[in-house]
Amino acid sequence: MDCIVVGAGVSGLSSGIRLLEDGYKVTIVADSLSPDTVSDKAAAWWYPFLAEPVEKTNRWSSESLTEFIRLMDEEKLEFITMRMGREYLEESCPPPGWSSDLSHFRILEENEVLNNYSFGWEIEAPVIEMAHYMPWLKSRFESLGGVIVVRKLSDLEELKCNLIVNCSGLGARELCQDEEVVPVRGQIIYIKQDPGFGRYDQRPESLIYTIPRRDVTVLGGTAQKGDWTREIREEDEEYILTKCELLWPELDRDNIVGRAVGLRPSRAEVRLEKEIVNGRTIIHNYGHGGAGVTLSWGCADEVLRLVNE
Ligand SMILES: Cc1cc2nc3c(=O)[nH]c(=O)nc-3n(C[C@H](O)[C@H](O)[C@H](O)COP(=O)(O)OP(=O)(O)OC[C@H]3O[C@@H](n4cnc5c(N)ncnc54)[C@H](O)[C@@H]3O)c2cc1C
Repeated sequence: MDCIVVGAGVSGLSSGIRLLEDGYKVTIVADSLSPDTVSDKAAAWWYPFLAEPVEKTNRWSSESLTEFIRLMDEEKLEFITMRMGREYLEESCPPPGWSSDLSHFRILEENEVLNNYSFGWEIEAPVIEMAHYMPWLKSRFESLGGVIVVRKLSDLEELKCNLIVNCSGLGARELCQDEEVVPVRGQIIYIKQDPGFGRYDQRPESLIYTIPRRDVTVLGGTAQKGDWTREIREEDEEYILTKCELLWPELDRDNIVGRAVGLRPSRAEVRLEKEIVNGRTIIHNYGHGGAGVTLSWGCADEVLRLVNE
C-alpha cells in the first residue's frame, strides 16, 4: 500500500523506515532535508525534555532507548554513544518515571552536588550525533526502497494518496492551521573540550547543558518560546557561556569552534493521532518540542500501530 510521509526530520525518517520495514511503499515529501532541518540541530541527548503528555512520552522514550541501544550494539553505529551525565536540581524530588529504563541511575552524594543546588542524580544515556545520524537515517530509508521528493506543501489536500503521515514539525502550524505548535528557540555552542561527563540543569527557565560527543561538546541553552529568530545572537552566547561555567568552571572559551540555532516544534502535547478526512487516513506525528530524537522510535512504532489498526 502507498503512503506519503510529510517531513524529512527525525520523525519523518524514523516513521518512514518503520512503514517500509512493514511492507508499505513510502514516499517522503519535504521542503527541507538534512542538514537543514531542526533535527540536524538537536544536541542530542536522550532525555524526555519539554514533551507531554508524560505517560505517553515516557513510553515512547523508553521504546526509543531500546532501539538506540540496539543500533549501537547490533548495528554498531559508532555515532551513538552512552554518556554519563549529572543533573542538578534545586530541590529534592522523586526519580523521574523514565529513570527505571536506564541501566545506570543514582542519586548524587551530598558532596557531589554543586553550589546553588541541593540535589541531583547521575544517569548514563545515549548521545546521538545528528550530523552522522541524519544521513544514516536517510540512507537506511532509501536502501529500503523509500523515495524522497523535495517540495513545499501548502495543504495536505495537494497529496494524492489515501494514507498520509504528517511529520511536519513546526510546519504543521500552517499545514494544519494548528496554532498550538510554537517555536521554542534553542541556541547552542560547539566547543572542542571534553567535560568528562555531561552536566545539566534541565529546568526550562534556566536550562544549562554540556553534552560531550566524540568531536565536540555541545553547550546550551536557550528555550525562547515564540521566538522565530534563526540568527545567532551574541547576548545569548554570553548568557549560555556564563551559565555553563557555573557547572563546568574549566570551560575554556578559546576552544569554541561553532554555533547553531534551531526552533523546537513545541506543543502543549505531542500530536500523535489518527484523523480521517474525506475518507483519507492522516496520522499526525508532530509537536515533539525538545525531545524529538528521544521520542523518535517510540513515536514511529506508534505511527505503524495506528496505520495497521
Ligand atoms: C538546540 C536544540 C537542541 C535539541 N536537543 C535535543 C536533545 O538533546 N534531545 C532530543 O531528543 N531533542 C532535542 N531537540 C529537539 C529536536 O531537535 C526536535 O524535537 C526534533 O528535531 C523534531 O523533529 P521533527 O522531525 O518532528 O521536525 P523537523 O526536524 O523540524 O522536520 C520537519 C520536516 O517537515 C518538513 N516540512 C514542514 N512543513 C512542510 C511543508 N509545508 N511542506 C513540505 N515539508 C514540510 C520540513 O521541511 C522538515 O523536513 C533539540 C532541538 C534544538 C533546537
